[in-house]
Amino acid sequence: MTKQEVLEKAKELNVKFVRLQFTDIFGVLKNVAITTEQLEKALDGELMFDGSSIQGFTRIEESDMYLRPDPDTFIVFPWRPKDGAVARLICDVYKPDGNPFEGDPRYILKKVIAEAAELGYRMYVGPEAEFFLFLVDEEGKPTTITHDKAGYFDLTPVDLGENARRDMVLTLEQMGFEIEASHHEVAPGQHEIDFKYSDALDVADKIMTFKFVVRTIAQRHGLHATFMPKPIFGINGSGMHMNQSLFKGDQNAFFDPNGYKQLSQEALYYIGGLLKHARALAAITNPTVNSYKRLVPGYEAPVYLAWSAANRSALCRIPAKRGASTRVELRNPDPSCNPYLAIAGALAAGLDGIKNKIQPPAETSANIYHMDAATRAAEGIQSLPANLKEALDELQNDEVLKDMLGEHVYSKFMEGKLQEWDEYRTKVTEWEIEKYLTTY
Ligand code: GLU
Ligand code: MG
Ligand code: MG
Repeated sequence: MTKQEVLEKAKELNVKFVRLQFTDIFGVLKNVAITTEQLEKALDGELMFDGSSIQGFTRIEESDMYLRPDPDTFIVFPWRPKDGAVARLICDVYKPDGNPFEGDPRYILKKVIAEAAELGYRMYVGPEAEFFLFLVDEEGKPTTITHDKAGYFDLTPVDLGENARRDMVLTLEQMGFEIEASHHEVAPGQHEIDFKYSDALDVADKIMTFKFVVRTIAQRHGLHATFMPKPIFGINGSGMHMNQSLFKGDQNAFFDPNGYKQLSQEALYYIGGLLKHARALAAITNPTVNSYKRLVPGYEAPVYLAWSAANRSALCRIPAKRGASTRVELRNPDPSCNPYLAIAGALAAGLDGIKNKIQPPAETSANIYHMDAATRAAEGIQSLPANLKEALDELQNDEVLKDMLGEHVYSKFMEGKLQEWDEYRTKVTEWEIEKYLTTY
């Protein structure tokens, strides 16, 4: 869409308010609302905001930032009134000197996409975001209670969540999403909605929109949707598997009918790169303290660094489809990640594999959960970081990923996450009280 088309569409659809959206370093969606009278000015990138109020953005003394809306992202919110409608535009963040702001995650992703393009590649991503729907109490506060006993793919009993999920799918479709599947996940109250793969930037934008829509619609059904990775101990957590492929022209570069398992050498190197950087990348794809409570054996989440064309316990799985659908499924990301940075990180890791011909280890076909530590050690199978601190330490030593993030994002991200870790590390938890209070 052009600027003119956005203005016409806004008029035609009676849009009164436009939300200018962007995402901060920690993956939180930010909004500046304007009225349509301001839209033209906004589309010209003349709208300024104070960046110093956004965590991780910028120092007070150089806080003026400009938003440049991407006209292609114009969408009207279907759940708001038709008269005086509300629309949104996703924006790039610019500095007063007219250069892109290095702290804008969308810019970071664009940079890696451009690097891939220089090598002749275009990345496609298909995410599988899982989430929980919980009841809210009388005061409207979210609980971790679900009344639903259904499991994976169950059709009955039809519960509150089922209705909400149907509404989410319909709303997303009205907003231009092509929904490929939506189903109940393994745990009670857990759901998944998959939308069609698309190019990397579009998918990152869509993930942000997706989470926002799911939360909004849940709320309208009196439920709370959470993308927290592991809200309940003892049952599955929520992942956001990332299916990735590289295209050269209209050909899937991961497919080779004569290759090992019909995978091209590029696909193997890409896997090699993902595995090499996985421990550091985890700081970005699994960026919360809670993320690491999902990455434990027994809950369909990966723990060990391995790849497999069959086994779901591996970090990288190659789904059965070949030809144009050939792809690598990275299974550790969770929906608390910043999708721009997570996709950028995976792409940078994969490209490093291709550029430096990083051969992946042999494929692991056995269920790694069932291997004992000695067998894993003999096969050279490493684990993902056990906690956020371990992941941050890895990131600190990973030049490829640090380079990908750039100095600004890297230092702000580290600072924020180390602080988060420290807060967690020094808090006295309920578990400790239960365990120690009467024993000692
Ligand atoms: N919920 C699982 C996870 O934490 C994934 C289940 C699945 O294979 O879809 O990754
Ligand atoms: Mg799933
Ligand atoms: Mg999957």
